[in-house]
Amino acid sequence: MPEAPPLAVTGAVLDRETVGLRCEGGAIVALGPGVAPEPGDETIDAAGAPLVAPLVNGHTHAAMTLFRGYGSDLPLMRWLREAVWPVEEKLEPEDVYWGARLACLEMIRNGCTAFWDMYWHTSATARAVGDSGLRATIGTPLFDVNGGTEKMQEAALESVEELAAAGPMAHASLTPHSIYMVSEELLRWTAETAAERDLPIHIHLSETEQEVVDCLDRHGVRPAAYLDRLGLLGERTVLAHGVWFDQDELELVAERGCTAVANPVANMKLAVGGVLDYRAARDAGVRVGLGTDGPGSNDSLDLFSDLKVFALVQRHASGDASVIPAREAWAVATGGVELGVGGPADFLLLKAGAPELSLGDLYSDLVYAASGSVVDTTVVAGRVLMRGGEVPGGEGIVARAAERACRLGID
Ligand SMILES: [Zn+2]
Repeated sequence: MPEAPPLAVTGAVLDRETVGLRCEGGAIVALGPGVAPEPGDETIDAAGAPLVAPLVNGHTHAAMTLFRGYGSDLPLMRWLREAVWPVEEKLEPEDVYWGARLACLEMIRNGCTAFWDMYWHTSATARAVGDSGLRATIGTPLFDVNGGTEKMQEAALESVEELAAAGPMAHASLTPHSIYMVSEELLRWTAETAAERDLPIHIHLSETEQEVVDCLDRHGVRPAAYLDRLGLLGERTVLAHGVWFDQDELELVAERGCTAVANPVANMKLAVGGVLDYRAARDAGVRVGLGTDGPGSNDSLDLFSDLKVFALVQRHASGDASVIPAREAWAVATGGVELGVGGPADFLLLKAGAPELSLGDLYSDLVYAASGSVVDTTVVAGRVLMRGGEVPGGEGIVARAAERACRLGID
């Protein structure tokens, strides 16, 4: 996508104050009550629409939109073995591209502007991200339980190199699938390579109780301690799930500065028996994010619905309605980003007349009453990706993704 022309927004409401905003070169250059358009600016009259930071999907497998609703009543291992894996063997980059375009379309519509992705054919996902105008950190899944360690290392490095050339919106990461699908050797290599090349690590961890039992059995320690022993825990490590972390693991994860990403809807759909304990994680000092997990196992990419479930399940499980104030829950879903001058020009304008947002505290409404349908305008790097609820070219993307799913025999 070409660089966006300067953009000015007038009449937006930020924390009950009417403000203007200007973006240039992909960044916010002015924000406040007196900010007005300059000659040559593209202009949006927000007409009283709330202005908020966008959502960040901390864990997904975007192109799995293709698998949505396919074999979804099967238990996890049968779903993978009978529905997902046989089809994944036939995947071509073009399938992944259109599956990821569909995911990006949904995320734009639902106000999510950045995501952390783990899936095959990473350069196809990167192309989809670039063409959609979103941001993503992408990695190819690594696993070598049945051998092939060297092949995996080559695939990871190839992906990292391709992504380095994929443009400014897609970033590379190393994404070992999990401690049960990846050998100790490949995990150590991941830690060393991430340190050498300054790459983030993104891994599924402590998703099922069985994983913890097996880890104790094989390695004598719980999953987070095992990863720490191999050097994988650091400030750029994202741990998806963390359902079964105990207190020592939470303290370790906090000390190392990792981010734990809760995926409560996927956890409940796959019936893993729990969700990340937010209060324990927060009190230990862990940075917590929110993810959908793959659209094959959620099945929605509307992070608003995950946010509501996340807040509800924390309240319900703790028996404490004050365990996560709405504004704090919102901050989890947005990665704690506050809009400000010098920051990236990524923001949302919500529907000015949305009934769900018309009364009461905005953040409480956003967490408990809203869905992604309250998003009117999505802007990333100063580019308007959706305006008035319309994403240009959206219908064509849906049709192409359906064609690819049909080709794969999923319908
Ligand atoms: Zn996942």
